[in-house]
Amino acid sequence: MTKTHRCEAVVIGAGLAGLNAAVHLQDAGLDVRVVEARNRVGGRVRSMRELGGNLEAGGTYIGAAYRRVIAAAARHDVRLIDVTPSLKFFREQDLVLDGAIIRQSEWPAHPANPFPNPDRALMPWTFSRVLTARENPLEEPRNWLDPRQTEHDVSMYEWMRGLGLDDKAIRVGYGMNVSYGEDAQDISALQLLFRAAFSRAQANTSATAGRFPGGESAPSSSSSSVTSTGARGYTVADGVQRIPEAMAESLVQPVHYGRTVGRIEDDGRHVTVFCEGGAEYKAAYAVCALPFTVLRRIDFDPPLHGSQREAVASLPSQSMTQLYFAHKSEFWEADEYAPSLFTDTAAGMFSAIRNGSDPTQIAGFSAWVMGRNASQLDALPPESAGARVIEEIEAVRPAARGQLKFIGRQSWGADPFARGAWAYFRPGQITRFAAAMGAPHGRVRFCGEHLAVANRGMEGAMESGESAAMGILAPRRSRKAELSNQSDQRHH
Ligand SMILES: Cc1cc2nc3c(=O)[nH]c(=O)nc-3n(C[C@H](O)[C@H](O)[C@H](O)COP(=O)(O)OP(=O)(O)OC[C@H]3O[C@@H](n4cnc5c(N)ncnc54)[C@H](O)[C@@H]3O)c2cc1C
Repeated sequence: MTKTHRCEAVVIGAGLAGLNAAVHLQDAGLDVRVVEARNRVGGRVRSMRELGGNLEAGGTYIGAAYRRVIAAAARHDVRLIDVTPSLKFFREQDLVLDGAIIRQSEWPAHPANPFPNPDRALMPWTFSRVLTARENPLEEPRNWLDPRQTEHDVSMYEWMRGLGLDDKAIRVGYGMNVSYGEDAQDISALQLLFRAAFSRAQANTSATAGRFPGGESAPSSSSSSVTSTGARGYTVADGVQRIPEAMAESLVQPVHYGRTVGRIEDDGRHVTVFCEGGAEYKAAYAVCALPFTVLRRIDFDPPLHGSQREAVASLPSQSMTQLYFAHKSEFWEADEYAPSLFTDTAAGMFSAIRNGSDPTQIAGFSAWVMGRNASQLDALPPESAGARVIEEIEAVRPAARGQLKFIGRQSWGADPFARGAWAYFRPGQITRFAAAMGAPHGRVRFCGEHLAVANRGMEGAMESGESAAMGILAPRRSRKAELSNQSDQRHH
């Protein structure tokens, strides 16, 4: 017989967004259940403990102004570490373009450099970031949703052409191992302007020597090793997954694992959430904390409509696959190129892993492969995908021949509970539906990184979870206040 769990709020999805919604609802006194399809919490935060050390497959870098993530770590006694000393190593990367390695020092005068003056010194992996930071019309990150910014909701290609760049500069400056979309035609410039405004806000905060917006001081807890002056960012000593794990441990009712939600029904008085395999949850409210790529496979009764329906059906998520490699020797000392390479090949961004306490030590390599290359690698069995990446590296770097061993893959695009690494907006989609796509649907509230208004990444997920919880709590609080006013008036 199907078991029906009754509660005041059911949260679907135990990523940071869902867990933050659950924590807020529980703090306000609600009886909450969290249902999760996987057998772990954290979603796109995943510490790959099975590969040893604290290798991260998902969210890693916690910006200095990630107020909610940092507060959650402090509240649940999760130890953050300052990553500022290791950041310089991430900049040590050479370029692979058209079959050859180009050192950073060679790039400004290199014949393959298509960038105009004065930007010839910019490396392709920072080019579009620098431009969107420099030419940014957003005073605050949240202004990306201001209808006055609609003129920027055009393709990145069009936006870059508007700055006078030619096709070659756009291909090299945006089209290599693309983080948002498949190419410059596939992404709204406005989203990248939002990202740049968010990065600027983070950088400004770290520059203010550990002071946080709203006058709070830098994070500190007895076990925290975060410095209070000028840290650029943090990560978690025992793996970032400790944050969602600790949040889940603080819930009175344990997360229900292995519950894949397939249908949500709202009869006007209750919402019932149906899981594959038979479990049901009946509650006054449901918080749906799933990426739209997953949500579009869930039946709604009554159905979603209007621009929300369009958004759920069409908002894309970035194809991305990660492959991990061990190395047999320090081959980069033989050819004296940087250990890490940013490539225009199926090896994507091939980076040295420096996740130990000493960032000078290289623990292995990871290939972050995006867009079409990721989809192609996902179509291969893991070992063949690993061999393909090794082939690409060995072709440009003879010193690496026979020195790399494939050890594992994590594909976010192929993951049935993520179906992509992060949401992105195609040109025009922000104008068509971004402001309306998170609206309540009867007794269902929505959250997830894609619904963040002022933040991105993990902080965006936390922001959206908090907003979803407030959407449930605020009307209840005002109703309570109204009732208590009425009773005060009766007593007088
Ligand atoms: C490779 C990578 C690197 C990143 N690096 C950073 C970084 O350095 N800094 C940063 O801030 N952010 C980073 N991010 C982004 C950050 O990890 C995400 O924005 C954030 O974790 C998303 O949280 P979420 O709760 O919105 O979604 P998710 O974490 O995806 O949570 C959704 C949950 O719903 C569950 N679920 C799915 N389908 C169902 C179903 N049918 N029924 C029940 N449960 C279901 C999933 O299993 C999952 O647990 C990175 C992401 C990736 C992929």
